[in-house]
Amino acid sequence: MTSTHPTTLLAALDAAHGLRIGGEAHGAAVLFADCDPATGLPIAQVADGGADAAVAAVDAASAVFPSWAEAAPRARSEVLYAAFELMLAEREELASLISWENGKSLGDARAEVTYAAEFFRWFAEEAARPAGSYGSSPGGGTRTIVTSRPVGVAALVTPWNFPAAMVTRKIGPALAAGCTVVIKPAAETPLTMLAIADLLGRAGAPPGTVNVVPTTDPETVVSSWLADPRVRKISFTGSTGVGRHLLAQAADRVVNSSMELGGNAPFIVAPDADLDAAVDAAMVAKFRNSGQACTAANRFYVHAEVEEEFARRFGDALAALRVGSAFSGADLGPMISRRAVERITASVEEAVASGARIAQQLPRPEDPDDRNGFFFPPTLLVEVRADAAIVSEEIFGPVAPVVRWTDPDEVVALANATEYGLAAYVFSRDLGWALRTAERIEAGMVGINRGVVSDPSAPFGGVKQSGLGREGARQGFLEYTETQYLSVDWS
Ligand code: NAD
Repeated sequence: MTSTHPTTLLAALDAAHGLRIGGEAHGAAVLFADCDPATGLPIAQVADGGADAAVAAVDAASAVFPSWAEAAPRARSEVLYAAFELMLAEREELASLISWENGKSLGDARAEVTYAAEFFRWFAEEAARPAGSYGSSPGGGTRTIVTSRPVGVAALVTPWNFPAAMVTRKIGPALAAGCTVVIKPAAETPLTMLAIADLLGRAGAPPGTVNVVPTTDPETVVSSWLADPRVRKISFTGSTGVGRHLLAQAADRVVNSSMELGGNAPFIVAPDADLDAAVDAAMVAKFRNSGQACTAANRFYVHAEVEEEFARRFGDALAALRVGSAFSGADLGPMISRRAVERITASVEEAVASGARIAQQLPRPEDPDDRNGFFFPPTLLVEVRADAAIVSEEIFGPVAPVVRWTDPDEVVALANATEYGLAAYVFSRDLGWALRTAERIEAGMVGINRGVVSDPSAPFGGVKQSGLGREGARQGFLEYTETQYLSVDWS
């Protein structure tokens, strides 16, 4: 299937009026350029929201909060279900928009839209099943009624790497629980968020339930929200550094916080692993989204007995990838920015200087249209030292460092030698060994003999400095509710 630049959708969005407050598009005195990372050229000028827009968004969200919180759960569910259906019906256009402003391949963008839409369906189902229980105290007499209610206005802050899924994963449970939201999308990908807000309006979300403030000044907008007593929740997805900063600000008013932060996923291959399956999974875990995923395999620990064979097959699979603009049909797109290319280049150079060898690296794309794009070619590094800098930091790019191991205890220690604890992957035909190893790894999610852990029906999230709370599953819904217990004596 071929797709073209979604100019029709873009015209309909009127990005220059891209503040979406109270169900309407508003302009701003200042605009900023949203650029195509495959060419470095601007796609659109977007309204740049500031302190006034931030307050107006909370005004709108808090005005509609009481009626949305009291709406029948089924009514909230139906809005989300309609959004799910609209998103799938408009998948092709939305995927093209994501590819255009984020750079990811159309295959990755289509997969993201499907995944993003699933959060609307999952939470449409959760909305109709509110939590609660009734019981008697052990001593008899009093009755205990436990109910849950929406936290309140929720501030949602999201990254550019999955501009649709990271936000539906928050809007879905927030609206399901009866919260209203103010959203600050990443400045690199505001159009996808505006398209989703427009879609939610058409699905029946009442004006004011979903408000969007694109900005190049996130500090001003988000700190205004965290200081506003009407905002009761912050849900953030992004880097651990910014997450720490927001948690410190949230502490001032004890704002309910959910944090989905950075990762440094180990990918462990045992000597008895099915190597074809491990390489297939490694390709997905490493190269989906050009390696720009928080769950991306960041370091490959391969047993000495199979290291050479694994690297040979992995290198062959990597060599078959096509790098270029999404609209040229490539498998792998550019990095999000020139700065990202420079950072990854420096990491690879440092690894090579400390003894690693480049076993495979694709050439940069040759298409003249791609010359100014932010491309970094997929790269396989072998003979990487266990203490190399490249395995201790989040690469966030298409570079796969392979480290050899021989001792099972040592490989677990290496996997855990990081401040992060988001995802991990274990490959072995011995399921008992794989499960025992997974249980020893400090990570919120472990893929066993598979390279993807994301699933709307499963609790997504990390331990250690990879985050607080979970998204998706029942847990994701509960993040937007507060428990109230009524102690009743009707003797
Ligand atoms: P980032 O932390 O730079 O930005 C994330 C968001 O925070 C953006 O909207 C940005 O504008 C905003 N932001 C930046 N500075 C801010 C400030 N001072 N105050 C308020 N908001 C601010 O991260 P990024 O580069 O956009 O995304 C990549 C990071 O996100 C990686 O570390 C990745 O692992 C992580 N991530 C985590 C998950 C997860 O589910 N755990 C998912 C996707 C990405």
